[in-house]
Amino acid sequence: MQTRIKTEQELKAMRASGKILATILNYLAKNLSEGMSTKDISNLAASELRSMGGKPTFLNYQGFPDVICISINNEVVHGIPRKNKIIKNGDIISLDFGVTYDGMITDGAISLVLGKTQDSRTDDLVKITSQSLDAGIKVLKDGVRVGDISSAIQSVLDSFKYGIVRDLVGHGVGHQLHEDPNIPNYGSKGTGPILKSGMTVAIEPMATLGGDDVIFSNDGWTVMTADGSLSAHFENTVLVTEKGFEILTKI
Ligand code: MG
Repeated sequence: MQTRIKTEQELKAMRASGKILATILNYLAKNLSEGMSTKDISNLAASELRSMGGKPTFLNYQGFPDVICISINNEVVHGIPRKNKIIKNGDIISLDFGVTYDGMITDGAISLVLGKTQDSRTDDLVKITSQSLDAGIKVLKDGVRVGDISSAIQSVLDSFKYGIVRDLVGHGVGHQLHEDPNIPNYGSKGTGPILKSGMTVAIEPMATLGGDDVIFSNDGWTVMTADGSLSAHFENTVLVTEKGFEILTKI
């Protein structure tokens, strides 16, 4: 389904959804500590979400068993929270969350390094992946083509020689979690579908310190780098406007 131009009423719900999402990701980022399990983090997300009145978009989405995806280090996305998965200082922790509010959906993700790393390349990967998302968002305005976004993201990641995950892409969002068009994190300016003012999209670069290729874990969900390299992921749901954009999941 193609993402629709949203009504004011729908945007009101998406702004509320995005605000809940951002508030919870921010809360989680501040409350992570060494020794927590990824299930502990998920439990925090679930209880905050309940108290704020949102619904967990990911729970049961195509059978996903939890409210949030938590992916560590070489895991790129779609990690399932587990009691026996313990976070430690130096880990890259990627939190990907979806919130439904008043029937409308937003999708967002952050990566962070817990505590201190031994290797500045880890911090750089997280920082630059976030910057590539900013670069992709900055080109948005009525009439922008998907390839303009893709190219802006790719040029940031290429300049640091990072791997760019190609098997997973950004997407339209709003009435459903994944709507058309796809928004790859690589591509050429001036190509691809045109986005109009009032459309809402989830832009989500995934970068690695190694190659582009990913593999699926035995659990059928967790996507990992094929070469075991570290990975980072950032995502915002963004409204395209006449002259620019509005980030709906801004922390
Ligand atoms: Mg997404």
